[in-house]
Amino acid sequence: MVNPTRRSYDVIIVGAGMVGASAACLLAQTNRELTIGLIEARLSTPFNPQQFDPRVAAITEKSRLLLERCGLWQAMVDKRVSPYLAMDVWDAEGTGRIEFDCHTIHQSNLGHIVENAVLVDCLLAEIEMLPNVDFHCPVNIANYLVDEDGVMVELVDGGRLDAQLLVAADGANSAIRQHFKFATKEWDYGHQAIVTTITTERSHQQIARQRFMPKGPLALLPLSDQGNLHQCSIVWSQETEEADELMALDDRQFCQRLSEASEYCLGQVVDVEQRYAIPLRQRHAIDYAIHRVVLLGDAAHSIHPLAGQGVNLGFADVEVLADELNRALTRGIDVGDLSVLRRYQRRRKPDNLATMAAMEGFKRLFAADQLPIRLLRNLGMSTLNQQSAIKNAMIKRAMGID
Ligand SMILES: Cc1cc2nc3c(=O)[nH]c(=O)nc-3n(C[C@H](O)[C@H](O)[C@H](O)COP(=O)(O)OP(=O)(O)OC[C@H]3O[C@@H](n4cnc5c(N)ncnc54)[C@H](O)[C@@H]3O)c2cc1C
Repeated sequence: MVNPTRRSYDVIIVGAGMVGASAACLLAQTNRELTIGLIEARLSTPFNPQQFDPRVAAITEKSRLLLERCGLWQAMVDKRVSPYLAMDVWDAEGTGRIEFDCHTIHQSNLGHIVENAVLVDCLLAEIEMLPNVDFHCPVNIANYLVDEDGVMVELVDGGRLDAQLLVAADGANSAIRQHFKFATKEWDYGHQAIVTTITTERSHQQIARQRFMPKGPLALLPLSDQGNLHQCSIVWSQETEEADELMALDDRQFCQRLSEASEYCLGQVVDVEQRYAIPLRQRHAIDYAIHRVVLLGDAAHSIHPLAGQGVNLGFADVEVLADELNRALTRGIDVGDLSVLRRYQRRRKPDNLATMAAMEGFKRLFAADQLPIRLLRNLGMSTLNQQSAIKNAMIKRAMGID
């Protein structure tokens, strides 16, 4: 997919994950004059209709609308997306429980479970049709140079690409963030997330379930039924030692432990596909921009997956950055100018910080095992479950439709 002719762009985006590829797509579609070089180091794993991708994301309605605006949603539905209609969240250490239902807020669903491979495949197919985007993949970067007038990306093969603006969408371990010494606030959660696809005895009935345990939450995310199979994607966050132990179990033992951990809410777990353990780290860049360089998605912020908000925050970044770059272009302002990038930072940082703080609060609240806190927590959940107005407002906010 390399276009060797064009070497000079308005914008270079590094990283064609869900965030970088959607940024390329939205920017190119909303401004046909803008030229974009999208650089990716690895060929993505293609969508496999026979098997679910172990990496999925719960996509909010707000994010779905963005994907629809990019003309992608129908293509994603044609491949495979799994709507969920309700959510059931409960505390393993007591009787606290909260249930949400799409019908109480007059919606047809609460969100969609989307395989990362479906999203990236559809984004890259769309990008291939956009004449103002060149996709450079697989390509390794040797160095970055920034001066007053522009930015230069030197490739390992000796090639050079230049632009007015460098967008870092290169994920949580962003090499660009490190190269330009962006300061971060970060800490290790001491958790690993085990992700895989499981088959259960009973149907999930399109309900997303989450059980909070002292050593971490277990999410059972409903996948669309394939034949008679009832399948879920799981995200089981556990302290590192427990996660290592779970990863070492054979499939039969793992299914049994998972059945117990899920309180048999879907009956027995009868099958499990390959498991992956992902270390979890909270990280937030103090600044998202310097002159000509801006951070986007996980490169700017990565959070615990317990409420499935990471890529949704990334999509919100994409929307605001596109908005600010288009605003600058209509005013004849250089897109790499720090004043433009700071506007993006000002609009996104409060939302990202608030979501990160809420996730941290949840994690600590459910990790506490002192009796008074447990009692209050359970009482709080049960009380909230009776308050339909507050519950409806909460779920609308989480869906991004308030
Ligand atoms: C277990 C788990 C469950 C999650 N569940 C949810 C969920 O339900 N909902 C939700 O909203 N979010 C969820 N998230 C978060 C979500 O996965 C991330 O927020 C999202 O993947 C970030 O996308 P990104 O494009 O910013 O980064 P990435 O997905 O990491 O993509 C970065 C891309 O950059 C490329 N790259 C890196 N370095 C270079 C380089 N030097 N040169 C070229 N290319 C490079 C990489 O190859 C990659 O393709 C979850 C995360 C985890 C770990």
